[in-house]
Amino acid sequence: MSSPGFDFSELDELYREIILDHYRRPRNAERLQSPTIETHGLNPFCGDESSIQLTLDGEGHVAQVGVQGRGCSISQASGSLMSDLLKGKTVEEAEELTELFRRAMQGKDLSVPERERLGEADVLEGVRRFPVRIKCALLAWMTLLEGLEGHRAKVSPSLTLPHNGGETAFPLEGGRPGWG
Ligand code: ZN
Repeated sequence: MSSPGFDFSELDELYREIILDHYRRPRNAERLQSPTIETHGLNPFCGDESSIQLTLDGEGHVAQVGVQGRGCSISQASGSLMSDLLKGKTVEEAEELTELFRRAMQGKDLSVPERERLGEADVLEGVRRFPVRIKCALLAWMTLLEGLEGHRAKVSPSLTLPHNGGETAFPLEGGRPGWG
């Protein structure tokens, strides 16, 4: 069920270059050995997979990120772009970024400061013109969100917040501690 056939000619050249660069040279790809948070997600539509590990420091900031996966170029580039954003962020900030990215992919217009928070990941917005690929772009982010929520529930169950009705864009497997 792999789908290599994404037509990149439809994307702006700059976007295309950034996405392909992250696909070919994924950032933070090394698996972390003793992560605080570990989660795994699958996009059944495309066969894409994403495994994410985070280590938090004593103050709850992301100290280390590991993202591995396989699948189409959009899903893998998206995981790499996301990984670059997470270092130094708190769990809450990482959740906010995930929400911003989801809104961008759902076609909601973001403000300039919101867009800036997404950094280079903003280039994936071009993908939203290809509805079948939106799930590919969202996979790593929704997988991350599941891991963050699992962590939050573990450390402070009473503080678990609903986010947008709790609906994910598509069913995700994983979030099982100790996967791998
Ligand atoms: Zn895909």
